Amino acid sequence: MKPQHIPFPPWIRKGLSTGVQYHRTEGLLKQLDIDTICTQAHCPNQRECWEQGTATVLILGTICTRNCPFCSVAHGTPELPDAEEPKRIAQLASRLGIQYLVITSVDRDDLADGGASQFVAVVQACREVNPSMRFELLVPDFKGVQEKALDILDRVQPFVFGHNVETVPELYPVARPGGNYGRSLDLLAFARRRWPDTPIKSSLMLGLGETEDQVRRVLQDLRGRGCDRLCMGQYLKPSKDSLEVKQFVHPERFASWGEEAMAMGFTWVLSEPFARSSYHAQDATYSGGK
Ligand code: SF4
Repeated sequence: MKPQHIPFPPWIRKGLSTGVQYHRTEGLLKQLDIDTICTQAHCPNQRECWEQGTATVLILGTICTRNCPFCSVAHGTPELPDAEEPKRIAQLASRLGIQYLVITSVDRDDLADGGASQFVAVVQACREVNPSMRFELLVPDFKGVQEKALDILDRVQPFVFGHNVETVPELYPVARPGGNYGRSLDLLAFARRRWPDTPIKSSLMLGLGETEDQVRRVLQDLRGRGCDRLCMGQYLKPSKDSLEVKQFVHPERFASWGEEAMAMGFTWVLSEPFARSSYHAQDATYSGGK
């Protein structure tokens, strides 16, 4: 049976105008040959973030070794890590005056360290040009090499550590078949034990068909693993082949989820339809988040 397409509700609207800074960000990314998850995931916030001179860099290529049907990033056999990539990202950060950079990557199950060394190389290159820069590392689940990967990341502390559970475990078979909910929780718990003072963040999308009880259990699981930052946003189908949206969650419901999450002990929560893991990430740093 053909999946049912639900029309966009009125609150799923974003302005389309772009300004000078947007084009400057776009031009520099192109000139320096840097990929972003903003474009690869067709993020609805791209105009807003780039206009503010911020972007989330996607390292280690644009080919993922997994194939999640909610995600528009291509999958297949990736290329070897690019040794020049860290320097180019440092140049980008310097020319845009970026003080807080979110770094993420595709899944690199083909690499012996899951790609952790490239995260470290990017942070080090950026710190060479701007020692006061801050970082948020939004990492894959480092399947099979979690301990080794965190050992490597430890070299560039401090940072915000992020790993997204993305959805409720009941939907992993359809939305994240190459992932494993328990493994993602293990990584968050492992990071918490490893870095007791580091903010640990996770995100999930609503609208894939999850129930409220299932969402609540995920929040409890995250708190139980020491996760203290949470981001919840509306799933939006990023490409024609991606999973259909099953439900649009009202902004007021997002707001009440936010209140519930704070009551559960999360110290920083972004819960609104356009929330994405890197959206307003830097605000936490400057507005008194942990
Ligand atoms: S929310 Fe994140 S991924 Fe989306 S445009 Fe902004 S920086 Fe990029």
